[in-house]
Amino acid sequence: MSNEGEWIKLDNMSCPVKECPGLKIPVNWVCAKDGQSVFVNEYGRIKCAASISCSGIHIANVCEWGWKCSNDKFHKGQYIIADWEGSNFALSEALRFANKTSSKWISQLVLSLGEQFDE
Ligand SMILES: [Zn+2]
Ligand SMILES: [Zn+2]
Repeated sequence: MSNEGEWIKLDNMSCPVKECPGLKIPVNWVCAKDGQSVFVNEYGRIKCAASISCSGIHIANVCEWGWKCSNDKFHKGQYIIADWEGSNFALSEALRFANKTSSKWISQLVLSLGEQFDE
């Protein structure tokens, strides 16, 4: 997958797994495999990388990315793939107030997520 798009660091996003009680607690996300920061772009891709401009070490669509927040009572060490509703909610809430994204970017993300989870 290419590095194109406008990437934004996933700071302060609540856990997108809908059933997770940690839903409302914002988390700074890092990659499970290497501890690198996690970024998202408007095409609904997630990457982990050393910095925003670096190409991803791990890169995947949101619909394939596993999430684990600090609520281990719920996750029990498991990385869980979020559904469309949870992903859409957590990402747009986190990014709408980040002041880094345009409304065009958010609209494109919502569109991309809709396509991903529709397949
Ligand atoms: Zn990684
Ligand atoms: Zn969680």
